[in-house]
Amino acid sequence: MFYGQFCENIYTAKGRQWCAPVSAQQYHLGGEVTFTHRLYRLYHFGLRLAAALLPIRTPHVYAGQQALSQWLCEVKKQNLRTLLVVSDPGIVALDLQQPIIAALHQQGVNTVLYSDVEANPGIPCIEQGVSCYQQHHCQGIIAIGGGSVMDCGKLIAARIARPSKSLQQMQGLFKVLRPLVPLYAVPTTAGTGSEVTVAAVVSDHQRQIKFAINDLCLVPKGVLLLPELTLGLSPQLSATTAIDALTHAIESYIGINATRFSKAKSVAATKLILSNLPLVYQQPNHIDARMHMLWAAFYAGQAFTRTSVGYVHAIAHQLGALYGIGHGLANALLLAPVLNAYGQRIDAQLTALAQQTLAANSDAQDMRAAIATLLHDCAIPSTIAQLRQEDIATIAKRAIAEAHPDYPVPCFFNQHDIETILYSLLPQQQHSKQTDEQQSLTGQYR
Ligand SMILES: [Zn+2]
Repeated sequence: MFYGQFCENIYTAKGRQWCAPVSAQQYHLGGEVTFTHRLYRLYHFGLRLAAALLPIRTPHVYAGQQALSQWLCEVKKQNLRTLLVVSDPGIVALDLQQPIIAALHQQGVNTVLYSDVEANPGIPCIEQGVSCYQQHHCQGIIAIGGGSVMDCGKLIAARIARPSKSLQQMQGLFKVLRPLVPLYAVPTTAGTGSEVTVAAVVSDHQRQIKFAINDLCLVPKGVLLLPELTLGLSPQLSATTAIDALTHAIESYIGINATRFSKAKSVAATKLILSNLPLVYQQPNHIDARMHMLWAAFYAGQAFTRTSVGYVHAIAHQLGALYGIGHGLANALLLAPVLNAYGQRIDAQLTALAQQTLAANSDAQDMRAAIATLLHDCAIPSTIAQLRQEDIATIAKRAIAEAHPDYPVPCFFNQHDIETILYSLLPQQQHSKQTDEQQSLTGQYR
């Protein structure tokens, strides 16, 4: 009782962004409330304070037709003579990096291309980039690619700033604590938002885990939003990366640490995705829609880097680690089932989001329907082909370990809740172990 009142007081105090009103209803823990859950909520409050008090930088954005020339002026102004261009084989096969490299050369800036970045980069991949940077005496980094490439660029910069610290030693919060060399990001997918976040993820193949390095200095100095670089994305990849961004926006919005600022960014991102993703999916060369999607991913990144994510991501990361399912697709598979499992406990948040993105008189049900339509129109499957019944308990356990206490979720799921979500996603209706209770939990909105 005391704790509930305490939280209500601190969360509803007026006048400060971190105290943006959070209703008592929103603050309900949901399901069985344990003492541990209450401790988690105290921790979440600490995170909320930290996010409000820490100066999370917004990178300078170069967008529109003059983006490249404006950025080149900046590079010249900084007197950068050699830049490490970080990319991956897919980008290089399409030659997407070439116009940027050519423009740099025209300005007399040398480039060194490191294009061996793998999906979910491992420690050796990042260290190879560090060697390349040092060997050629680079003075800055431009990462051209999706989330893996941008994360790799950030991590190379972190290792350059902290040469005596290993990536493992920088795991967690605020272990870099040094300014990075000039770092620029050019997203070629509109999804991860890595170009604006304080985090970068490393795969530790030996331990079969992924870990994150989080530090304010990891936000790139500048971001180039060049929609022409995303024109070659397949409809499927355009969709799954965009739904990753939508998941960032929604998990940020429904989480208890959402602020006025983060909510505004979530709304902007959601609106842009709902109206532009169908266009991009149907007409991949629609340059205006592509530009809107880049902005959507950027806004969603701004939102979740302040509030963190939730169970969709916690479970999706396990699917990525265990089956190699791409991050965007994993989120797309889980978004609707997780929102359904929250049930009415997030209706207030979804209604508010619907009223700002769909229509003034819409509600949570309309929001769920809009998401379901979007997933359907983008041909997102309703089951996970790789999922095996015998893995479900492990996935659920690992997802709980990831989410608790780090993610300020709107209410807490337990092992059983997450297993229920996963059972509902088994291929070939392998639902034999589901209890009536489990079915009713996931069936509420189907
Ligand atoms: Zn994500």
